[in-house]
Amino acid sequence: MPAHWSRTTLVLAVAAVLTAGAAVPATAATPTPKSPVAVGFGGAVASIDADATAIGTQVLRDGGNAVDAAVAVAAALGVTDPFSAGVGGGGFFVYYDAKTHRVHTLDGRETAPKTADENLFVENGKPLAFADAVTSGLSVGVPGTPATWAEALRKWGTRSLAKSLRPAENLARTGFVVDQTFQTQIANNAARFSAFPATRSLYLPGGAPPAPGTVFKNPDLAATYAQLERSGVDALYRGPIGADIARTVQKPPVDPASTLNARPGNLTTGDLAAYRAIERDPTHARYEGLDVYGMPAPSSGGLTVGEALNILENFDLKHASKADYLQYFLESTRFAFADRNRWIGDPAFVDVPARELLGQRFADSRACLISKDKAATSPVAPADPRHPAACAAGSVAAPTPYEGENTTHLTVADKWGNVVAYTLTIEQEGGSGIVVPGRGFLLNNELTDFSFTPVTPGVPDPNLPGPGKRPRSSMAPTIVLDHGRPFFATGSPGGASIITTVLQVILGRLDRGLSLENAIAAPRASQRNSAAAQVEQAFLDQPETAELQARGQGFSTAPAEIGAATGVERLRDGRWLAAAEPVRRGQGAAQVVWPARW
Ligand code: GLU
Repeated sequence: MPAHWSRTTLVLAVAAVLTAGAAVPATAATPTPKSPVAVGFGGAVASIDADATAIGTQVLRDGGNAVDAAVAVAAALGVTDPFSAGVGGGGFFVYYDAKTHRVHTLDGRETAPKTADENLFVENGKPLAFADAVTSGLSVGVPGTPATWAEALRKWGTRSLAKSLRPAENLARTGFVVDQTFQTQIANNAARFSAFPATRSLYLPGGAPPAPGTVFKNPDLAATYAQLERSGVDALYRGPIGADIARTVQKPPVDPASTLNARPGNLTTGDLAAYRAIERDPTHARYEGLDVYGMPAPSSGGLTVGEALNILENFDLKHASKADYLQYFLESTRFAFADRNRWIGDPAFVDVPARELLGQRFADSRACLISKDKAATSPVAPADPRHPAACAAGSVAAPTPYEGENTTHLTVADKWGNVVAYTLTIEQEGGSGIVVPGRGFLLNNELTDFSFTPVTPGVPDPNLPGPGKRPRSSMAPTIVLDHGRPFFATGSPGGASIITTVLQVILGRLDRGLSLENAIAAPRASQRNSAAAQVEQAFLDQPETAELQARGQGFSTAPAEIGAATGVERLRDGRWLAAAEPVRRGQGAAQVVWPARW
């Protein structure tokens, strides 16, 4: 039995039998209990995982603020949700400061090596297939997550990095109870994981994914966290962890017996040393008298959610029939995605017309193309936000390229009223599939978020690879303020569907009379300027579907689930509501510090 893999202890076995009944095998351990909704005082935490949420709540209970708790939760997710996030990845951190009433953001997006150019993913004159790029050193960007943690704590936290990482270190060392989601995510990736001995021995012990109910430990990751606690993030950006990352990317440690062609990347220790998490002004959109803050470029999240909201200001969604509401929702993102694809990339490389994309005149010019009775034909063309012309249809249409769909979002609020919405990722489920030998974490494949070649021949693509460039993201951690005070915050994984999920949660909460937990639970649809919107089966099962189809809306149901949102809301009486998925991705975990009746 490998060292990191243990059967449960007798104590856990007894507890399982006592709490869960005789149907539970005597060897099964008791998972940390979880609930998708919690209400009370003292602060709130919502994430996809019960252990991570419990760690965050404990930080708040011990007097830490929302930033301290968010970093502790994120580090714990690196242990329990390692196929979505961890020190090998990147993300975007949005923070509301209760003292100043201001929203700040940190861009912890991965960067391409300085040797990258726009042909990074072109081989023999042709773009690589996504499947060939994803499991490779070529797709690995410089991780931004450790720098984000250190920078967030330095700017707004009250605790050291060491103290914030310790609970996650302990969790990695003592282990957590495997659930079905963890097992399934490994099973989904078993073929490529088994090609790398370091990944295989960690996640496929004895050749198979660990079974639900057993305890999983990751001592290498515990040691990595301990090293970051002792030496700070320099251990990664300028030290031995970084040297291991560069070596692994340059020579992916594939089993010699495997036929997998894991292309090497050019990421160097110099690239790691050059990395910075960047503080950026948030995006801001006014919607129905509220202030919606989000993540600016290189994420397209805040700009695209904001443009869609501005478009929807033109329609009375509160009083619209459900079919009309859904029609406007689907059409708003059809147009907003056309503009996103044409204009948004890393602002260090392209001139992103951010202010103009969020201009109400521009949104009105797009709304003018939307019909209540007839879906537009996708792909629709982008328009120029710098010269908004009423009802101008634009010229060359731009479809939305593929993006991986698996990351994680956490939302935290503290007793002072500070709020964090933080989405972090290693891109694809399982990232590049490469665990850094001896370090216990997976490397990202974030660079596959670049366009491999221009999406529309002859039209400039702002998202081609470049030296040190950050690939465009869709991550959309969002904080909504009412008169400068937090109302609610939310975010989700889901690649490009993050944008539509966050928008749908906002609209459900603000316009359709749903509580935050019901807005999160509602059936989802994602129209991203393609002929058929991606929808969940539950969306199709609604009585409005036939009417929407009669208006020209097309639907497709793959993949089965869209997103895995979390959120927090400040209720009118001062209590916090924490909300997570009741079903998707095996259910999320919401907690408050001092529960009170709902
Ligand atoms: N790579 C995606 C992005 O940055 C996130 C992946 C996901 O949501 O699963 O937009």
